[in-house]
Amino acid sequence: MSSGLYGAIEAGGTKFLVAVGREPTDPLDVRRFPTSNDPEQTMGAVIAYFKEHPPLESLAVASFGPVDFAARGIGKTPKLAWQGFPLVHALTRSLNVPVVLETDVNAAAVGESLYGAGKGVGTFVYITVGTGIGAGIVVDGKTLHGLLHPEVGHLPLRRHAGEPPEFHGVCPFHGECLEGMASGPAIRARWGQPAETLPPDHPAWGIEAFYIAQACLSLACVVSPHRIVVGGGVFANAALYALVNEELARLVNGYLPLPEVVPPALPLPALTGALAMARTACWR
Ligand code: ZN
Repeated sequence: MSSGLYGAIEAGGTKFLVAVGREPTDPLDVRRFPTSNDPEQTMGAVIAYFKEHPPLESLAVASFGPVDFAARGIGKTPKLAWQGFPLVHALTRSLNVPVVLETDVNAAAVGESLYGAGKGVGTFVYITVGTGIGAGIVVDGKTLHGLLHPEVGHLPLRRHAGEPPEFHGVCPFHGECLEGMASGPAIRARWGQPAETLPPDHPAWGIEAFYIAQACLSLACVVSPHRIVVGGGVFANAALYALVNEELARLVNGYLPLPEVVPPALPLPALTGALAMARTACWR
């Protein structure tokens, strides 16, 4: 007899969140494991968690990137112990269930587009701004993939005139790309303190909004989203949304219809999206 139970994994650089559930918006028994430098150790804990529950119908993994879809695992991550790790194989071998693989941000975009701030919208982008920057893109219910998958965090930027002259970004590959200039570690490196400790009138916020608005402009020009959700730790400062919308209007300069930039509506968008993908098992 079928259990009607689906599994989801949000595989992050510092933690793995796992859940089982029947309804994507109502994950049961969410648990958290640290991301060890030994992938076998983390995956052992994840697999043991699922074995505590009735057999799953299917399972979806929302993974940190880059994801190697051909090898069904982790791609060229700077987390060297995880590079090339065959996530899907490790899960199917132990749990004997169909496994769907997606990027964490594409899964979050699915979650928000089905149940959250992107509901009812055809073309939708979810951006997260935290330790890294990434974006998921959903077009008519399908996540966007190509040679790889969107890597919005590495878009090039125009430098803000108020940048401290000695700061040239933290991305090891490009220096002054979006992630290099606007991620949590970029803010900390530039100002010597983490984003959450900066006062509301600090020049950091105007610079941050300038960079995120540039990414939104690029997305508006390329995929023309109806709406853009921005989440992640740096956007815990809710005042950023008004700043980004103003800056985006200035950059667009009347040429395009303006996509709205809004906060996420779900507490766990990637996990919700993963449960939805496990349930439909047809996203990818
Ligand atoms: Zn970069």
